[in-house]
Amino acid sequence: MSKFFSKKYKDLVPYTPGEQPKDQAYIKLNTNESPFDLSKDILDGLLESRNPRLYSDISCVELRQKLASMFGVDENNIICGNGSDELLYFCFMAFCDDDTPAVFANITYGFYEVYANVNRIPYCIKNLNSDFTINVSDYLNQNKTIFIANPNAWTGILLSLDDIERIVSSNPDNVVVIDEAYVDFGGQSAVELTKKYDNLLVIQTFSKSRSMAGARLAFAIASQDLINDLNTIKFSVNPYNVNSLSQCLGSVVLDNDKLIQQNIKTIIENREYLVSELDKLNFETLPSKANFILTKHDSITGFDLYKKLKENGILVRYSELSELKDYVRITIGTKEQMDKLIDAIKFII
Ligand SMILES: *Cc1c(COP(=O)(O)O)cnc(C)c1O
Repeated sequence: MSKFFSKKYKDLVPYTPGEQPKDQAYIKLNTNESPFDLSKDILDGLLESRNPRLYSDISCVELRQKLASMFGVDENNIICGNGSDELLYFCFMAFCDDDTPAVFANITYGFYEVYANVNRIPYCIKNLNSDFTINVSDYLNQNKTIFIANPNAWTGILLSLDDIERIVSSNPDNVVVIDEAYVDFGGQSAVELTKKYDNLLVIQTFSKSRSMAGARLAFAIASQDLINDLNTIKFSVNPYNVNSLSQCLGSVVLDNDKLIQQNIKTIIENREYLVSELDKLNFETLPSKANFILTKHDSITGFDLYKKLKENGILVRYSELSELKDYVRITIGTKEQMDKLIDAIKFII
């Protein structure tokens, strides 16, 4: 820390992203990216279609129009962001306060705690049940701003729409943020409920199911008032938050949704395949509706399995959390990648 660094942030513990080592080529199953590249058709012409000399469209009109018709909402119910990370950050700024703390689970997306800390927002952590499901009653009548990843990060476990509605309807004076980064892999989106509840805000991203993690593009859907609040923050922080190339790419990807749906279907099949192969090897795997699984084997800790797989050229993720020390999190890749992973695991255990 330099002597110039603000004292406000002296205790800040930043988010730890999954590693991106460059020492060799790895089969990369550690950060939940899609294994499928966007087609050449989609990528061609990108530079021609948007001139980077000019500022990007400040309101992402084309993208918002396409998303609006896709989700059956008005474009005023949508804001685009530089990844869901940015929109989540805006939500912490906009909807939390000293007297409106944040609420989230002990095991969930690590950024929630970081964003609360960097904004100096008090927060309340709710432990998951012993089977890693969310205890819904912990989130009823809270008078706090609630953040839920659905399916949940690290576990992949899905909360039902009925449970989400119970949580949203019991907190009418507070915002409930549902982070649907993985919803396309077998979940049901809560977007429909945003028409009924003005305190519900749903965030989705192009990073996981739409093969665009590096383009940094996401969107939130909610009542117009909530979207206006996020726009107030956006126009106070970074008005041109989505660059023109990513806007263009996102728009073309929405036009090619059939391809994306095909990729999603393959990833779901590969997930079921991997889980059944791991079952045969006596792994215990949580029921995932995401593009990753959390799994463990009696004979090895999460860290040791991570380390041995890395030696074999395969990157997975382990967690520092004591509750997850037996587990590794594995991103679902192509069938070939899953077969190589299974071979390596057989060799290791
Ligand atoms: C990956 C992830 C994000 C971040 O997504 P970006 O849109 O790439 O910023 C947000 N929430 C959860 C739960 C995630 O797993």
